[in-house]
Amino acid sequence: MVTIGEIVLQKNLLSAKQLFVILNQQREEGGQFGYIAVKNDFLTKAQVKRLLDLQKTLRKPVGSILVEFNKVDQKTLDEVWGQYQNYVNGDEAATTTESIQEAKKERNIIFKDIQSTCPVCKEAQMQQLVDPDCHNVIKHDIDLRPTEYSWNENISQTEDPILFDIWECSNCHFTAKHRYFFHPTCELSMSDYNFARRMTKNLESNENIKRFYDCEIPPGMDYIVPILKTYQAIYILEQIPHIVRKDALPVASHYHHLAWLFRGIETKEQLKKIRKLAGKFRDIWPDIPVIEEEALGKALKSYETAYYESEQVERDHFSHVILQIMGRINIYLKKPEEAEELFKETSKILESRILEITNQLETKDLSEEQSKKLNEEKDKLVKFLMETVSLFSHLEKFKS
Ligand SMILES: [Zn+2]
Repeated sequence: MVTIGEIVLQKNLLSAKQLFVILNQQREEGGQFGYIAVKNDFLTKAQVKRLLDLQKTLRKPVGSILVEFNKVDQKTLDEVWGQYQNYVNGDEAATTTESIQEAKKERNIIFKDIQSTCPVCKEAQMQQLVDPDCHNVIKHDIDLRPTEYSWNENISQTEDPILFDIWECSNCHFTAKHRYFFHPTCELSMSDYNFARRMTKNLESNENIKRFYDCEIPPGMDYIVPILKTYQAIYILEQIPHIVRKDALPVASHYHHLAWLFRGIETKEQLKKIRKLAGKFRDIWPDIPVIEEEALGKALKSYETAYYESEQVERDHFSHVILQIMGRINIYLKKPEEAEELFKETSKILESRILEITNQLETKDLSEEQSKKLNEEKDKLVKFLMETVSLFSHLEKFKS
């Protein structure tokens, strides 16, 4: 059975030093791991509950769990174990107040726990993401993939938020980007109830889906688990043809996310691992993307379907957002003509919507509340139009 200590290390919830403090106190005063962690203010009660849940579900050998999560730092494990052995053999330094204070400062606060209910099986569970309040994107690629963050001052240990964006239900294995986890579809085209019903059937009876969450993962790479989970999320969504045809925005967004993950891959060795991983599913998914360009191509196609077919896009007036992101992807793919067309279309939609609002504001008898709302919408659209216009400058470099 995997110990909680191993899970916390592997999940980066505690530093090695904090774990050491807990182990020592546990040895001296007795008491449960979770209780001591909360008492020292290293973990919240919610985090401890999640760990206990994890401990219950992870009934595999420790080695394979650690490898699977791909978060293990063998050096850290060895270090902690060595320190702990030293302590047992008489070195008591680690229990001084000073070292406890120091360990407290190290509390890893970049993660935020979110109490969630799975939209499919309704099981209550805790999901986690990198707290949006503790960082800002300061640089991104032309297609909006963040490349640089600024972190709050008190944070010393950081993670790439992109790696923590996909959530998987620990009970039924429904998987999605956290932004789509609670409402994966547009309610007009398919109710939440209908979605849950069809998804339950798929998750229970489709043997192919099982292959994704039972898949063994090669060790030693941050990106491989998120990539596998994104494959899983896309495959699950694409089992419902209605979503592919009429509600393609979540599909597009997941393919785009997959491309962002591929972009983080640094070596040929890692790329080879991805090919090998994708190869395991090629019989059930012949065009599974293995490189960034393929994922972007799929994203573009689904964005286009969403633009033409999705009721959500029409209802919520965000076709301009989709067109602009398609243009951005085309610049990234060095296709300036396509991008130019898309930006022109984006601007046209924005201009006509802005004009429409201006007319309403001038001619209609509106309450204060209504005009305030319209003015806010107009401001937003004007800002978006200015941003779109500025994107034309990126096309210049292709012309010379
Ligand atoms: Zn579930």
